[in-house]
Amino acid sequence: MTLSELQTSFEQAFGKQAEKIFFAPGRVNLIGEHTDYNGGSVLPCALSFGAWLLLRKNDDGVLRFRSLNMKETYSIQLSAIKPQPNRAWCNYALGCIDIIGQRHPEAKLTSGYDLLYYGNVPAGAGLSSSAAMEVVTARAFTEELSAVCYQQSDDKAYRTELAKISQLCEQQYAGVMCGIMDQFASAQGKKDHAIHLHCDTLEFEHVPVKLDGIKVVITNTHSPHHLDSGAYNDRVRQCQTALEQIRKVRPINYLAELTPEDWQEVEQAITDPIAKKRAHHVVGEVARTAAAVEALKQGNIAYFGELMTASHVSLRDDYEVTGPQLDALAEAAWQVEGVLGSRMTGGGFGGCTVSLVKDEAIESFKAFVGKEYEAKTGLKADFYVAEIGDGVTRLR
Ligand code: ADP
Ligand code: MG
Repeated sequence: MTLSELQTSFEQAFGKQAEKIFFAPGRVNLIGEHTDYNGGSVLPCALSFGAWLLLRKNDDGVLRFRSLNMKETYSIQLSAIKPQPNRAWCNYALGCIDIIGQRHPEAKLTSGYDLLYYGNVPAGAGLSSSAAMEVVTARAFTEELSAVCYQQSDDKAYRTELAKISQLCEQQYAGVMCGIMDQFASAQGKKDHAIHLHCDTLEFEHVPVKLDGIKVVITNTHSPHHLDSGAYNDRVRQCQTALEQIRKVRPINYLAELTPEDWQEVEQAITDPIAKKRAHHVVGEVARTAAAVEALKQGNIAYFGELMTASHVSLRDDYEVTGPQLDALAEAAWQVEGVLGSRMTGGGFGGCTVSLVKDEAIESFKAFVGKEYEAKTGLKADFYVAEIGDGVTRLR
């Protein structure tokens, strides 16, 4: 969809041209899975696909929401801004507008807006179409309402504030108690760079990803299974058990403080065999993420790919969050000549894998992985060849 096609759609919906157009990307996590709540870091990047927002002030005192991806439309009076029932999609936008007002009292919403969204991130696949929608809204309305955070000169601090607004929106308006990685990646993304983020302190570094002749290929399981809150909470608890038992022999605050060498010394303190496997993944994944950052800095994409594959094996065998669909995709990918690495990305069970594939191998990758996947699971996979893009921006 081109910008002029989007403009045409806006005119058809609202009868006038849009005043401004914004874009925010979806994201994929390259490595560092299930490390964030254990004090570790993550390594996501922003994608070249995401969510667009076209807007125009109106004189009606109403927020009108339309999306080219959804049939439902919403008209919300300015005096009635609150979470909408029945998982209304407008919550991902309305919440950001509300939270800007809560965090920045100077940014008063005094007029209505006509708003048109369009997204090309597959929704619900774990590539954060929701974060893209939130961040694009936070970007647009901090500017429209002249919030102080928009006027300040520190662009990184501004983008971090956009991520916080968006995370609070997801928590308060969509009811998802998410961490900040997705919104942070969408706000702080940088073309051809990954974001090495410490989720607890929000310290981060852009790390160059030099993919000469290699592409990031994302494969969608289209599996109905997802990491549900029960399985997620189990993992959090099992890590906590391991941490408590390790503390009897070593005073640490987080599992992420342990190196693989430390692990040899402390593992016998963990009596619960499941907790031991979970902690083993975390310690290994934290080390792999650090090694992956170094590999990127040295331009060693081949080693980076090996670390991705090792990450999947650990998530499969120790953390047990892959499941047959993600395993079928990754295991097929590993067999293809020209694949440097492949792993599940996101919480697990469903969603997507991320693979590094040489340009000349992309067609055979799609054909082989697609065929193997369908034979093993009866499902059809989808492939997206992604570029690593910039964070949220105003286009017009
Ligand atoms: P993910 O973030 O992994 O794609 P979520 O379930 O968190 O999946 O978010 C998907 C939801 O976000 C959709 O069901 C919809 O409510 C909303 N959404 C995302 N993109 C759009 C869009 N372009 N237009 C309207 N709603 C959208
Ligand atoms: Mg989401």
